[in-house]
Amino acid sequence: MFMRKHCPICGSCNHIQFAVIDHRNLVACRECSLVFANSFDEEELVKCYSQNYYSSPHDPRIQAWIDRNRPTWAGVVADISRAKSPVANLLDIGAGTGGFLEVFRQYSPATKLYAIESSPAARQNLVERFPSLVFCGETAEGITAAAGQFECVTLLQCLEHVYDPLRVCSGIYRVLNPGGVLLITVPNRYSYKVLLKKTAEANCFGNKTHLQFFSLRTLRRLLAEAGFQEANRITRFGGSAETGVMAAMQCLVRKVGISTEIRVLVRKQP
Ligand SMILES: [Zn+2]
Repeated sequence: MFMRKHCPICGSCNHIQFAVIDHRNLVACRECSLVFANSFDEEELVKCYSQNYYSSPHDPRIQAWIDRNRPTWAGVVADISRAKSPVANLLDIGAGTGGFLEVFRQYSPATKLYAIESSPAARQNLVERFPSLVFCGETAEGITAAAGQFECVTLLQCLEHVYDPLRVCSGIYRVLNPGGVLLITVPNRYSYKVLLKKTAEANCFGNKTHLQFFSLRTLRRLLAEAGFQEANRITRFGGSAETGVMAAMQCLVRKVGISTEIRVLVRKQP
């Protein structure tokens, strides 16, 4: 059993019970309001990863996942291109299937791509698909890259899985170039799906591998603790698989702050 006394963002031990969901006990920090798993079964966590995520580099679910998420990644690429261009070196932490890297490579073939991915099967798949990809460590907490190496770092649906989000973001701050940008997407603990369903049924809380549950407020606090200033939430129209009326609805829930995903862009001060 993994146990944690201190809040992973503010370090306080002052928290209240939030929920027991499957193998995880969730608490809410009284200081910064972060909801996090203060205890969970590590063996169960490993089992969930091997069931829900690809155990083979040739798993057919990989291509299906890439096809489904391509429009969202194209949206992320558009957000990055607005904020930082050109990007000579990009690091994708939690690269997974490599779908985002593929879309980014199409947009900017000259960018040198780097990745961190903790699943050995996923890493093997990435090596086969991107022979020139450079790995900078096996976990998000242990980035092995030089200070100031990257113009852009991406953390797409990754931070909710890590043990120590502050260590991850401080590490990113170190390896970003002054003026470089970090783009983060995380599930929103105040999404309309969480508000409409029972907490445990929404994917944000129901996914057995999630350990941190962010709101815009706690994500901003985390980034401030790591050294970043002014985290901008991206709420523009489009940038996902939704079209027409559904895209308009999605834009609306983003503006109101109850979208399923929080997408934030921060820049390291030049
Ligand atoms: Zn806290």
